[in-house]
Amino acid sequence: MPDPQILEQLHAMQQHDVPVHGGRTLAYVYDSGLADADETGRAAVAAYAGSNGLDPTAFPSLLQMENELVGFACNLLEAPESAVGTVTSGGTESVLLAVQTARDAHPEVSQPRMVLPATAHAAFHKAAHYFGVEAVVVPVGEDHRADAAAMAAAIDERTVLVVASAPSYAHGVVDPVTEIAAAAAARGVRCHVDACIGGWVLPYAQRLGRPLPPWTFAVDGVTSISVDLHKYAYAPKGTSILLHRNATLRRPQFFASAQWPGYTMLNSTTQSTKSGGPLAGAWAVVRQIGDDGYLELSRSMLEEVDRLVSAIDAIDALHTIARPDSTLVVFGTDASCDVFTLTDLLARADWHVQPQLSFDGQPPTIHLSVSPATDVDAFLTVLRDAVAEAVRVGPAQVSPDIAEFVSALDAATLTDQDFDNLLAAVGMAGDGGLPESMATVNALLDIARPALREALLTAYLDRLSRPTR
Ligand SMILES: *Cc1c(COP(=O)(O)O)cnc(C)c1O
Repeated sequence: MPDPQILEQLHAMQQHDVPVHGGRTLAYVYDSGLADADETGRAAVAAYAGSNGLDPTAFPSLLQMENELVGFACNLLEAPESAVGTVTSGGTESVLLAVQTARDAHPEVSQPRMVLPATAHAAFHKAAHYFGVEAVVVPVGEDHRADAAAMAAAIDERTVLVVASAPSYAHGVVDPVTEIAAAAAARGVRCHVDACIGGWVLPYAQRLGRPLPPWTFAVDGVTSISVDLHKYAYAPKGTSILLHRNATLRRPQFFASAQWPGYTMLNSTTQSTKSGGPLAGAWAVVRQIGDDGYLELSRSMLEEVDRLVSAIDAIDALHTIARPDSTLVVFGTDASCDVFTLTDLLARADWHVQPQLSFDGQPPTIHLSVSPATDVDAFLTVLRDAVAEAVRVGPAQVSPDIAEFVSALDAATLTDQDFDNLLAAVGMAGDGGLPESMATVNALLDIARPALREALLTAYLDRLSRPTR
């Protein structure tokens, strides 16, 4: 019997989090709206919480579930018979392994590089940092899609990987994968397609007859694809899939060590002991929803996305950034309506959207990852009111002297005391509580250059993450 008091306490703590269900959280969570599938997934996680993916001979059921999930993904992503794959803990791990594998396939390249469109997910910068692979970042076109010709020109003898997104997280558009993969193949370089967020929707969008550029293994030169199960496959958190076109390409991903007196360690991912829970949860949800279920969910969601885009563009102060290729809707505001104020007002109405800071000359935007559970009409009603209110109250104020101070700061020279002062000035002192007005915090971060944003948020997290004793 679970202890009812402890469960009640957990439930009470959870009330302060953004809701996981109901479709009102438009980033972080992906709600199928199918209560039964959700419950099946949770039960599977619980049943396998103690199982260990460290050794498939000890837990053959985990190997079976992994191979079945990878098989499902192979069918979805038009993979050839030669394809192989691995279930990882999430999109970041899939991306990390794609980069590590590409690097280790070329031990003769002493200073490896990868060519990224500027819109590639930050996980690639993390991989660059972890694995010492230099990120060669290529600006994208006006349409926010990767510039295939510029990327081709950026490939050199040190390049071990070229990357495209299907779609990009920040703008929701699919890159010209055919041209990018061809350029990579012409130089004998691997091409990874990051379909972490779109990989379980775009194949259905294509089946539904929506116009899309090709991006799967059907494209020559695509050597690996990542697709997250804990996004649009609606699995419990903790699973993604990394597919390779063939087993030879995957080989450097495996790690074995017999250099110690214990068991020979043999891993396909960065983890070694690995909970069977997320894998079982994903397997159960994919089995319950199934191909037909995903097709239906995609159909209704894509229709809702079309309606949402038209309605947003009909609101005076708002405009969408690009026609979504998938289920990510990104919009900007005009000068009358502050993005960060609007975000806070929506949160107050229990709709949780994700602000994206200005970057490389582009103004800030709002990101919506639409879920099947999202009630678009209810959102639009709240959005229209919130826009009117945001126009009325005006932008979050950063005092001009702080603004001037921050825009001149060099993150590299700041001391701990400087960070304490800065964080206190915007109500991010980290003394147990979270800031009251995220708009003020975001307005300040928006002024700061990327390196300072990183430093400030790192300092903040450091101060938040202290033991409770
Ligand atoms: C979400 C996402 C990732 C990272 O995935 P996590 O599961 O958050 O680690 C990578 N690439 C894209 C395009 C994504 O949307």
